[in-house]
Amino acid sequence: MPRGPYTPRLSFRRNGLKAAILFCLAALLQGCSLMRAGYVSFRSPEDFPKVSEAPPVYAEPGAEEIARTLAAALPQAVRQIEATHGGPMAAPPPIIVCATAPCYGHYAAIPASAAETLKDIRITINGALILKGERDTVQLLTHELSHYYWYAQGILFQPRWFEEGLAVWASGGGGAEKASVEAAGQAIAAGKMIHPTLDSGLWTYLFHPPEAPDNNWYQFYRQSGMFVQSLHDSSPDRFNALLAALRQTGDLQTAWPTVYPDSPDVMWARFTADISRQATAN
Ligand SMILES: [Zn+2]
Repeated sequence: MPRGPYTPRLSFRRNGLKAAILFCLAALLQGCSLMRAGYVSFRSPEDFPKVSEAPPVYAEPGAEEIARTLAAALPQAVRQIEATHGGPMAAPPPIIVCATAPCYGHYAAIPASAAETLKDIRITINGALILKGERDTVQLLTHELSHYYWYAQGILFQPRWFEEGLAVWASGGGGAEKASVEAAGQAIAAGKMIHPTLDSGLWTYLFHPPEAPDNNWYQFYRQSGMFVQSLHDSSPDRFNALLAALRQTGDLQTAWPTVYPDSPDVMWARFTADISRQATAN
C-alpha cells in the first residue's frame, strides 16, 4: 500500500505551506495595523466641531448625539474603570466620534473595528455601527477606557485574552455583544475555545496573533471576559493583587506567578471543565 504513508506526507507538506502563508499573512496584517497606527496618529480631527472640552470630544456631522451621550457618560465610565482596575486613571485623551465608515477608516488603524484606543493619544469611536444599532455607546467607551488605563501607563502588548477580557468584563459586555454567555458555554462544551497563555510583547503581537474560536471574534471576547470575571469572582483580593503587580512590573508574564501558583491555561482548563459539566447536566 504505497499510498498510505505517501499521502499523509504530501498533505502535511501542503498544510505546512498553507500554515506558513497564513502565518506570514497574519504577521503582515498585525505589522500593517501597527504601521497604520503610526501614520493615522498624525491625522488631526480639529476640523470637526467639539461637543465638549477636557477632554475634547470631536464629532463628525451626524455623530453629535452619540458624542454628547458619550461625553455625559465619561465621568461615570472613568469611575467604573478605576473601581474595577484598582487605581486612578490618567485624564482621558481626545475622543473622535465618526458617523461614517470613511471617517472611521481615516482615523482608525483597523478600519473594520468598532472602536480603538491609539496608545495614550486618542480614542476613536465607530459611530456608524452605533447608528446601525449594533453597538452600545457607553459600553464601547468603557471598554476602550480599560485599554487606555494601561496604555497611558506605558503597559502595551499584553496577552490579548487578558486585555480584551478585562475590557469586556469591566464594561459589562462591551465588545462581546453578539456572543451571549450561553452561546459561549455551548461553544466551550464543544471544545471551541480560547487558549489563554502569558505570551506577550511586541514579538508575540506581530508573529503569534491569537485565534478566535471558529474565527468568531465576539466569541473570543466573550470567553475572555468570562475567564477574567471568574478570576475576579473567585478571589477579588488576588485579582486586585494581580492588577497591582501588573502596574508595578508592566508585564503580565512577570506579574502572574507572584499571585497565582497555576498558569492561566491550567486555570482556564479548570474553569471550562465546570462549564462543560454544567452544559452536559442541563
Ligand atoms: Zn478591546
